[in-house]
Amino acid sequence: MPRYLSLSWKMLLLMLAMLLLLIVGFTGLTLLHMSEQFSRQQAQRKAQGQQYFQVHNLASTQQLLAWLQTQATLQQLHLATDFSAFTQGLTQQFEALQDNFAVKQLYLWNEQQQLIFSSETDPQGLAGPLVSNTLQQQQPQSVIRCGRICEKLLTLPLLNQAGEVVILQVNADMAGVLFSLHQALGLDVALVHTGGDQQQLEVLLASNRALLTQLYEALPADFDLSNAREQGIILPLSQQHYFIHFITLAPAQSDAYVLLMLENVSAAVAENKRYQRQVLLMAAACFLLMLALITVTTRRMSRRILQQAAALPLLARRSYAEFRQQSQLPSAWFADELTTFNDAVISLSHQLETLDNQLAQYTASLHSMALVDQLTGLASRNKLQQTLKQALSELQLQPAYVGLLFLDLDKFKTINNSRSHIVGDQLLIETARRLETLATEQDLVCRFGGDEFALLLPGLSSAEQAEAMAMRVLAVFEQPFVIGQLSLRVSASVGISYTHDANHDADELIRCADLAMYQAKASGRNRYVVFNQQMSADLSMRLQLEAELRQALVAQQFTLNLQPQVNLGRGQLSGFEALIRWQHPTRGMVAPDEFISVLEQTQLIVDVGYWVFDRSCRYCVELQAAGLENFTIAVNISADQFLHTKLPDRFGQILQRYGLSGRFFELEITESTLIDNFSETLGMMYRLKAQGFRLAIDDFGTGYSSLTYLKQMPVDAIKIDRSFVMGMLDNPNDFQIVVSTIAMVQKLGLDVVAEGVESFAVVELLKQHQCDYAQGYYFSRPLTQEQLPAFVSEVLQQNWPAALLRRPDSPAG
Ligand code: C2E
Ligand code: CA
Ligand code: CA
Repeated sequence: MPRYLSLSWKMLLLMLAMLLLLIVGFTGLTLLHMSEQFSRQQAQRKAQGQQYFQVHNLASTQQLLAWLQTQATLQQLHLATDFSAFTQGLTQQFEALQDNFAVKQLYLWNEQQQLIFSSETDPQGLAGPLVSNTLQQQQPQSVIRCGRICEKLLTLPLLNQAGEVVILQVNADMAGVLFSLHQALGLDVALVHTGGDQQQLEVLLASNRALLTQLYEALPADFDLSNAREQGIILPLSQQHYFIHFITLAPAQSDAYVLLMLENVSAAVAENKRYQRQVLLMAAACFLLMLALITVTTRRMSRRILQQAAALPLLARRSYAEFRQQSQLPSAWFADELTTFNDAVISLSHQLETLDNQLAQYTASLHSMALVDQLTGLASRNKLQQTLKQALSELQLQPAYVGLLFLDLDKFKTINNSRSHIVGDQLLIETARRLETLATEQDLVCRFGGDEFALLLPGLSSAEQAEAMAMRVLAVFEQPFVIGQLSLRVSASVGISYTHDANHDADELIRCADLAMYQAKASGRNRYVVFNQQMSADLSMRLQLEAELRQALVAQQFTLNLQPQVNLGRGQLSGFEALIRWQHPTRGMVAPDEFISVLEQTQLIVDVGYWVFDRSCRYCVELQAAGLENFTIAVNISADQFLHTKLPDRFGQILQRYGLSGRFFELEITESTLIDNFSETLGMMYRLKAQGFRLAIDDFGTGYSSLTYLKQMPVDAIKIDRSFVMGMLDNPNDFQIVVSTIAMVQKLGLDVVAEGVESFAVVELLKQHQCDYAQGYYFSRPLTQEQLPAFVSEVLQQNWPAALLRRPDSPAG
């Protein structure tokens, strides 16, 4: 976890840094500007001083020159033949010259630069370069010369009548110039000689020597004279500031002699300082103000974020109202990103709350849906399981029986398919109402699913009471169900299980009742069956069988036998019925009655059915090849296969593969297939008829089918169930059924086949009543593939079935 530094602090620091940078920059620039201005002023002052000095110097030179020329004119030098009068005059005026022009010496040089007059009593020296220069130029010259002291030298060329030229040289004291400068400018001035190393200053002349001495003593240690001479220097002295600048007096001769100007600049310095202070003060004030402003804004922002963050856990805890209250930000002058964020979060909380409420509603309704059947309003399967567990656990406290009735409407699927689903629904609702009338308060009526219902009977004193209830349940189905215009007769099959063992598993009890219900269905429907252990054993056997059957097709364990059929009228073989056999790896040959129903329940029957048809086609081709003519092979088709929409296509493909047509085959469907799915079967029948197949109704007489159905169907033959045929000798009822069926079917123009013919007596009877065809053990058992060639040759030799149709005791031939 990195160290925590709040957002506001981060922003604060960042902005302060920026601000500081800005302020320092600005202030620095301002101060720089100010000091530049100040130096510029100083430079100006310095230049001014220099100018003043030059002007003064020039003015005093001009004045002196003018005076001297006037003197020359007055003396009428231009009329004189020598200069004696002129020098005399000068000597007389020397005092005045001394007073007015600080003149110290006067010299007169001839053209040969020999001194011809001097104000000194003991003159020395030669004419300097100035004199020769003046002689050359014939112009007045002026120069400042510094030695031990500084003086100004002025030369003036003069001419007499004889054309002789002399040079008048005047040496004047500099003190005068300094003094008038001091007077005119109001500045202290001094004449200074700088030492060899330029650091030593020697004051030659000063208007205020005491001040200069003080300043000299106050010079800083790192004082740099050359720099000061260039730019001047400001020196502080007892609360005052003095600006000193230097003017080199005799630049041509030497820069060691300097005119020093001393200006009191305390006011300017003070002004400058005051200004600087103001700038700094302003900067500081700005900084503080911004600091306060930034702190306020960022603090506010971070407070709002923290407030939001603190409120968020409430959202997770689903305390929406509290969350909204806590995340309500104080009203602000301006909306910003945080306001938008806050709005979004608030609206999110509203949405979440709505979703949450919806979820709660859905959960509640799901919960109730899970416990209540939506169609009938009865308890659901879940509710049954709950209540059953409860009832079982209560057996611990109070010994009793818990009974469970499991019922399933018979042939509900047919009604649902043939009528509309609305009718089916109404039927279920009405069933629920009727069952409810039977239940006591402690009983629970439940719709288990589809057309299955359950009645939970807790607290029974005996197992028989459950059976009594089952009878009452069956009784409520005796009345027809009136739905709209329809009046439907519906029955139910009921399975019963019960226990007085508190540790009995609830699901197991339901499973047992379900199993018993299946048993009731298998035993002919519209009845109840009480569960027993054998059913469980049967069930596990069936499961075993199922698993084995799945293997059988792959492992090619199925074979097909052909049972011959006889045309009684012609006394000839008319065809065969193909009957499946299962060569079980351990149990040996298994009869179809044992496994067809299992195949049908697992839908395996469809694939097996196609295999049977394929094998039948192969038989057909083989038999034709063996020389047999005019025969059909009857193939049994189960209901599910018959309703398989691809049936005609698949059969067509198989036929094509063997180069056969449908007319070689008779498809047998049972009555129950017909009745359960009337409209679908009818459609399929027409499609199959179009392919040339003959159609036969198998096991006729066992179902409810009436002959009226037959009229509407493209059926070619009826097979009277073998149970009637086998019983017709002994049982007048069976006899009656066989005989009247033959008569009625013939009236419809259909063929009749009698199955299960086991004796010659039956053959005779059937012939008597004009039965068309017969099939049974009397003629032949179903023949295996191996038995067929011998049978075929019997037929081809016309020995079969001729011998069998003759009275056994009658002699052959
Ligand atoms: P089913 O269609 O009624 O077939 C006639 C049954 O009667 C055959 O039994 C046959 O062996 C038997 N039977 C023939 N003559 C006599 C007789 O004189 N006396 C007696 N007691 N029985 C005779 P099987 O072969 O055991 O077949 C039983 C049932 O299995 C068949 O009844 C048929 O419903 C079904 N089945 C057989 N093969 C197939 C098949 O390939 N496909 C389908 N879907 N069902 C088949
Ligand atoms: Ca059959
Ligand atoms: Ca049959």
